Amino acid sequence: LLRERMLREAIEARAFVLHYQPQVSLQDGSLQGFEALVRWQHPVRGLVGPDDFIAFAESRGLISPIGRWVMHEACRQLKAWQDQGLARVPVAVNLSALEFRQRDMASEIAAVLQATGLEPQYLEIELTESVLMHEADQVLKALKDLKNLGVGISIDDFGTGYSSLNYLKRYPIHKLKIDRSFVSDTPSSTDDVAIVTAIIQMGHSLQLKTVAEGVETTAQRDMLQQLGCDLAQGFLVSEPMDAATALRWLARESAPTVTPDKPACGQ
Ligand code: C2E
Ligand code: MG
Ligand code: MG
Repeated sequence: LLRERMLREAIEARAFVLHYQPQVSLQDGSLQGFEALVRWQHPVRGLVGPDDFIAFAESRGLISPIGRWVMHEACRQLKAWQDQGLARVPVAVNLSALEFRQRDMASEIAAVLQATGLEPQYLEIELTESVLMHEADQVLKALKDLKNLGVGISIDDFGTGYSSLNYLKRYPIHKLKIDRSFVSDTPSSTDDVAIVTAIIQMGHSLQLKTVAEGVETTAQRDMLQQLGCDLAQGFLVSEPMDAATALRWLARESAPTVTPDKPACGQ
């Protein structure tokens, strides 16, 4: 009960903050986007990560106000960076399965884009496979509406949910994010290398971009690059950073290149 009361107070006080983690091209290391990740600024515990409160918020019916704040703040921040003349890259926002089932996300997102002035091609939403398993017609309509709006759709933690590959052809999906659990033991685990290879190949055959999550070592990066994976996200490139640090990253990216050779990510 205490935890619930504190979370309610946090929502009231908007005691949340977004951190941004870059996604870079595996070809040339260039910044291709940010993922927005929410943190709770807890009065006693300091910054609390989403794994500690998102599921709890869902169970107490408190995910909507948090999700709404995240969506608005990510769009507002990105538009502010664009207005400062910084590099234009998209931001990805995570939506929980519950949010997607309970609300008309397409019209809500359209309203946020309108209010913040962010163009739809700069927003991506990340959904887990579990979203695609339920109430197929309603999900299909929402995803089609989002696609028509021009918003990108990524499947997060790909390979860990119910792997019904049916939805890959039925739904308008743009990106597959290969779950960190498959990346973390590569290249030493031959099983994981085989799974990652298969996901990248399948993604490309279906004209989907592939993003490797949790890339931590140069050996992983080199392997993914060789396999033709499009993008990398992980501590090798950068941990999620607060807005001020992300701004410095963006500013570096936006500066005119002095030498033609750009270092590849993580070098
Ligand atoms: P996710 O969407 O799969 O986000 C990636 C998580 O992996 C982030 O954890 C990130 O900090 C972590 N990570 C990134 N690179 C590495 C790496 O190289 N190594 C390791 N070990 N970890 C890495 P975080 O920020 O704690 O977020 C956890 C999850 O919480 C997210 O997983 C996402 O599912 C959820 N989440 C985050 N923000 C939101 C939000 O605004 N709304 C909702 N509904 N869920 C959110
Ligand atoms: Mg995500
Ligand atoms: Mg993920």
